[in-house]
Amino acid sequence: MTRPNRDLDQAGHTLQSVIALNLTNALEHIARELSVLDGFPERGEQANVQATSELTSVERHADARYALTEARETLRDHKAQVLQSIRELNEYINVVMRMRQPRNVTKPKSNDGLCCAGQQGKEGAVEWGDPMCFRMADKVGMCSLHYQRWRKHCETKGIDRSRDFQPLR
Ligand SMILES: [Zn+2]
Repeated sequence: MTRPNRDLDQAGHTLQSVIALNLTNALEHIARELSVLDGFPERGEQANVQATSELTSVERHADARYALTEARETLRDHKAQVLQSIRELNEYINVVMRMRQPRNVTKPKSNDGLCCAGQQGKEGAVEWGDPMCFRMADKVGMCSLHYQRWRKHCETKGIDRSRDFQPLR
Protein backbone atom coordinates (compact mmCIF):
# COMPACT_ATOMS: atom_id res chain seq x y z
CA MET A 1 0.00 0.00 0.00
CA THR A 2 1.27 3.44 -0.91
CA ARG A 3 1.76 5.64 2.08
CA PRO A 4 1.19 9.38 1.56
CA ASN A 5 4.12 11.73 1.96
CA ARG A 6 4.19 12.60 5.65
CA ASP A 7 4.93 16.32 5.35
CA LEU A 8 2.21 16.86 2.78
CA ASP A 9 -0.22 14.75 4.73
CA GLN A 10 0.28 16.87 7.85
CA ALA A 11 0.34 20.14 5.92
CA GLY A 12 -2.87 19.19 4.17
CA HIS A 13 -4.56 18.46 7.46
CA THR A 14 -3.37 21.78 8.92
CA LEU A 15 -4.44 23.61 5.78
CA GLN A 16 -7.92 22.19 6.01
CA SER A 17 -8.57 22.24 9.72
CA VAL A 18 -6.65 25.33 10.82
CA ILE A 19 -5.44 27.66 8.09
CA ALA A 20 -8.58 27.66 5.94
CA LEU A 21 -10.64 28.67 8.96
CA ASN A 22 -8.15 31.22 10.25
CA LEU A 23 -7.85 32.87 6.85
CA THR A 24 -11.60 33.42 6.81
CA ASN A 25 -11.41 34.83 10.33
CA ALA A 26 -8.56 37.17 9.36
CA LEU A 27 -10.39 38.45 6.29
CA GLU A 28 -13.54 39.00 8.34
CA HIS A 29 -11.52 40.79 10.97
CA ILE A 30 -10.09 43.14 8.33
CA ALA A 31 -13.55 43.73 6.87
CA ARG A 32 -14.88 44.65 10.31
CA GLU A 33 -11.98 46.97 11.04
CA LEU A 34 -12.43 48.68 7.69
CA SER A 35 -16.14 49.11 8.21
CA VAL A 36 -15.48 50.75 11.58
CA LEU A 37 -13.03 53.10 9.87
CA ASP A 38 -15.72 53.98 7.36
CA GLY A 39 -17.48 55.80 10.17
CA PHE A 40 -14.54 58.13 10.69
CA PRO A 41 -13.68 60.90 10.90
CA GLU A 42 -16.60 61.66 13.11
CA ARG A 43 -17.96 65.10 13.77
CA GLY A 44 -15.54 67.36 15.58
CA GLU A 45 -12.51 65.20 14.89
CA GLN A 46 -11.67 67.04 11.69
CA ALA A 47 -11.15 70.18 13.73
CA ASN A 48 -8.77 68.33 16.01
CA VAL A 49 -5.54 70.00 14.94
CA GLN A 50 -2.49 68.33 16.42
CA ALA A 51 1.07 69.40 16.86
CA THR A 52 2.87 69.24 13.53
CA SER A 53 4.94 66.21 14.53
CA GLU A 54 1.84 64.18 15.25
CA LEU A 55 -0.61 62.69 12.83
CA THR A 56 -4.08 64.15 12.74
CA SER A 57 -7.00 61.87 13.39
CA VAL A 58 -7.77 61.84 9.68
CA GLU A 59 -4.21 60.81 8.88
CA ARG A 60 -4.23 58.07 11.52
CA HIS A 61 -7.37 56.64 10.03
CA ALA A 62 -5.91 56.84 6.55
CA ASP A 63 -2.83 54.98 7.80
CA ALA A 64 -4.93 52.30 9.46
CA ARG A 65 -7.02 51.91 6.33
CA TYR A 66 -3.90 51.57 4.23
CA ALA A 67 -2.37 48.95 6.56
CA LEU A 68 -5.56 46.90 6.63
CA THR A 69 -5.98 47.01 2.87
CA GLU A 70 -2.35 46.00 2.43
CA ALA A 71 -2.81 43.12 4.87
CA ARG A 72 -5.84 41.89 2.95
CA GLU A 73 -3.87 41.89 -0.31
CA THR A 74 -0.95 40.09 1.35
CA LEU A 75 -3.25 37.39 2.70
CA ARG A 76 -4.71 36.88 -0.76
CA ASP A 77 -1.24 36.77 -2.32
CA HIS A 78 -0.05 34.11 0.16
CA LYS A 79 -3.14 32.03 -0.48
CA ALA A 80 -2.64 32.29 -4.24
CA GLN A 81 0.99 31.18 -3.81
CA VAL A 82 -0.04 28.12 -1.82
CA LEU A 83 -2.61 27.11 -4.43
CA GLN A 84 -0.16 27.72 -7.26
CA SER A 85 2.48 25.59 -5.52
CA ILE A 86 0.02 22.73 -5.06
CA ARG A 87 -0.88 22.93 -8.72
CA GLU A 88 2.74 22.98 -9.85
CA LEU A 89 3.67 20.09 -7.60
CA ASN A 90 0.76 18.06 -8.93
CA GLU A 91 1.65 18.85 -12.52
CA TYR A 92 5.26 17.88 -12.01
CA ILE A 93 4.30 14.65 -10.28
CA ASN A 94 2.22 13.82 -13.35
CA VAL A 95 5.18 14.60 -15.60
CA VAL A 96 7.42 12.34 -13.54
CA MET A 97 4.89 9.51 -13.58
CA ARG A 98 4.92 9.60 -17.38
CA MET A 99 8.72 9.42 -17.59
CA ARG A 100 9.75 6.03 -18.86
CA GLN A 101 13.07 4.78 -19.98
CA PRO A 102 13.00 2.35 -22.90
CA ARG A 103 14.11 -0.54 -20.72
CA ASN A 104 12.05 0.30 -17.67
CA VAL A 105 9.66 -2.56 -17.10
CA THR A 106 7.66 -1.18 -14.23
CA LYS A 107 4.75 0.99 -15.21
CA PRO A 108 3.81 3.22 -12.28
CA LYS A 109 0.31 3.04 -10.97
CA SER A 110 -1.64 5.78 -12.69
CA ASN A 111 -2.86 8.43 -10.31
CA ASP A 112 -6.45 9.54 -10.19
CA GLY A 113 -5.45 13.12 -10.74
CA LEU A 114 -6.95 16.46 -9.99
CA CYS A 115 -9.59 18.32 -11.92
CA CYS A 116 -7.25 21.23 -12.81
CA ALA A 117 -4.91 18.83 -14.58
CA GLY A 118 -7.78 17.16 -16.42
CA GLN A 119 -9.01 20.49 -17.76
CA GLN A 120 -5.82 21.06 -19.68
CA GLY A 121 -6.15 20.78 -23.41
CA LYS A 122 -9.94 20.72 -23.28
CA GLU A 123 -11.76 23.01 -25.68
CA GLY A 124 -12.40 26.49 -24.21
CA ALA A 125 -10.96 25.64 -20.78
CA VAL A 126 -10.10 29.31 -20.17
CA GLU A 127 -13.81 30.10 -20.33
CA TRP A 128 -15.38 27.36 -18.23
CA GLY A 129 -12.44 25.95 -16.29
CA ASP A 130 -10.69 26.82 -13.06
CA PRO A 131 -6.94 26.15 -12.98
CA MET A 132 -7.19 26.10 -9.17
CA CYS A 133 -9.83 23.38 -8.92
CA PHE A 134 -8.23 20.73 -6.71
CA ARG A 135 -11.19 18.43 -6.49
CA MET A 136 -10.51 14.85 -7.42
CA ALA A 137 -11.23 14.01 -11.02
CA ASP A 138 -13.96 11.51 -11.70
CA LYS A 139 -15.55 12.14 -15.10
CA VAL A 140 -13.24 12.51 -18.10
CA GLY A 141 -10.48 13.57 -15.73
CA MET A 142 -12.46 16.38 -14.12
CA CYS A 143 -14.73 16.94 -11.14
CA SER A 144 -18.45 16.72 -11.83
CA LEU A 145 -18.90 20.51 -11.75
CA HIS A 146 -16.28 21.17 -14.42
CA TYR A 147 -17.36 18.19 -16.41
CA GLN A 148 -20.84 19.73 -16.57
CA ARG A 149 -19.48 23.17 -17.45
CA TRP A 150 -17.33 21.72 -20.18
CA ARG A 151 -20.24 19.71 -21.58
CA LYS A 152 -22.46 22.80 -21.59
CA HIS A 153 -19.74 24.85 -23.27
CA CYS A 154 -19.38 22.29 -26.05
CA GLU A 155 -23.13 22.00 -26.51
CA THR A 156 -23.51 25.79 -26.75
CA LYS A 157 -20.73 26.02 -29.30
CA GLY A 158 -21.70 22.87 -31.15
CA ILE A 159 -18.29 21.32 -30.55
CA ASP A 160 -17.67 17.66 -31.12
CA ARG A 161 -16.31 16.21 -27.89
CA SER A 162 -15.73 12.70 -29.16
CA ARG A 163 -11.98 13.26 -29.33
CA ASP A 164 -11.94 14.17 -25.64
CA PHE A 165 -13.36 10.80 -24.71
CA GLN A 166 -10.19 8.99 -25.60
CA PRO A 167 -8.99 7.24 -22.47
CA LEU A 168 -6.70 9.40 -20.37
CA ARG A 169 -3.24 8.08 -19.82
ZN1 LIG B 1 -13.23 20.99 -11.07
